[in-house]
Amino acid sequence: MGSGQVTDWQGKNVTVAGLGVSGIPAAKVLRGLGAKVTVVNDGDDTRARAQAEELEALGIAVRLGDGATLPEGTELIVTTPGWKPDKPLFAAAEQAGVPVWGDVELAWRLRGPDAAPWLAVTGTNGKTTTVQMLASILQAAGLRTAAVGNIGVSLLDAVLGEEQYDVLAVELSSYQLHWAPSLRAHSAAVLNIAPDHLDWHGSMEAYAADKGRIYEGNRVACVYNVADKATEDLVREADVEEGCRAIGFTLGTPAPSQLGVVEGILVDRAFVENRQKNAQELAEVSDVNPPAPHNIANALAAAALARAYGVPPKAVRDGLRAFTPDAHRIAHVADVDGVAYVDDSKATNTHAAEASLAAYESIVWIAGGLAKGAVFEELVAKSAKRLRGAVLIGADRGLIREALARHAPEVPVVDLDRTDTGAMPAAVQEAQRLARPGDTVLLAPACASMDMFANYNQRGDAFAEAVRGLGAGA
Ligand code: ADP
Repeated sequence: MGSGQVTDWQGKNVTVAGLGVSGIPAAKVLRGLGAKVTVVNDGDDTRARAQAEELEALGIAVRLGDGATLPEGTELIVTTPGWKPDKPLFAAAEQAGVPVWGDVELAWRLRGPDAAPWLAVTGTNGKTTTVQMLASILQAAGLRTAAVGNIGVSLLDAVLGEEQYDVLAVELSSYQLHWAPSLRAHSAAVLNIAPDHLDWHGSMEAYAADKGRIYEGNRVACVYNVADKATEDLVREADVEEGCRAIGFTLGTPAPSQLGVVEGILVDRAFVENRQKNAQELAEVSDVNPPAPHNIANALAAAALARAYGVPPKAVRDGLRAFTPDAHRIAHVADVDGVAYVDDSKATNTHAAEASLAAYESIVWIAGGLAKGAVFEELVAKSAKRLRGAVLIGADRGLIREALARHAPEVPVVDLDRTDTGAMPAAVQEAQRLARPGDTVLLAPACASMDMFANYNQRGDAFAEAVRGLGAGA
């Protein structure tokens, strides 16, 4: 199991760590290739047993309730990316000299010799949006492509399925990158790096280093965020193919080898002849949906990757125009009495909420939920001048209330003191009371949703429903 392609899987002893979204398909694929597969899983509940039964029927061994012991004779571990690197199973593997691959590494190794190159995207926020914009641009250029990774098609399906692709737009999480040592993208972008998932990675340095893996071995371009120096540092540290270029994106005027914005136009000063003097118009800011600053940054990153792949300017514009964002990402729900109601339930951390708050001038902010160890001081201090008021819900709302008291004492705050699902209509009504015509009521919770809702989708749906309730009464 060196660094090359494994062509003969017959009889290879592979342990798959973890049932679940990536574990089950990986086990099936490996079994299909003739490997001797054992799945180990910490949990042993009814669901796991049902899954185990299905796998056992295919000749896959399953050990429930013991994800720590390395099965005898294991030659390779394929892990669910969510498993923390400090798990005892991995220490045992290291001691035994057994390599550990994640789902992305497996997909990468199973690609055929003429497989489509990968244009890869990571970052703390904006990955899904950027990858979808990129796929839309590539499609507009007439290329056979798909947005793959955490969204839509799985990587394994994209690599092994019937469908033929010219190029793939691949979303990668820091977990997946941690376990993908031999991945080599055509070009890659790191959108931003803010503290997130530090309990998993151990430290900010380890988190950044895992994100930086995406640049290793890039052939054409390493795309970084000019406004986020940490991303540029990662490019500098990466070992890339000769001739691979560092390409920046910026919301300001671009320097040579950058893409940026000049008077409402997205321009390319990287993939043009004589970039010292020339710039190529790609699209207008209004072609980006929604044209919020962070989303324009996402569009520029997508455009940079597409241009690195050789896509013409017109396809960038057409692809951006054709793109519609997924639900709950700065989704305009309705205008009621001159107030806009916007659902950014997907803003589950402070970095995302900050971007979202920066997109509007005067905001009634609905926030709160599970903080996951986050600190709200900076977010509140930076956003204070835009806040007409705030309505707080959820388990950790006290943390946000304290930050508001410290950094925005003049902003009126309604603390709903509720964590039940029914709190959303009350929150929206309070927000309506605080809002003035021209304001935006923005659900950007800066927190996870699981204290009150099944997930951020349900939280966003509850918001939209409550807003529609207002409309009916108005
Ligand atoms: P991811 O796939 O990384 O979670 P998404 O594209 O789904 O990212 O966006 C998640 C949330 O992050 C959005 O709802 C928005 O609030 C915020 N966001 C999107 N792009 C950016 C960006 N470039 N910088 C900061 N926040 C962003």
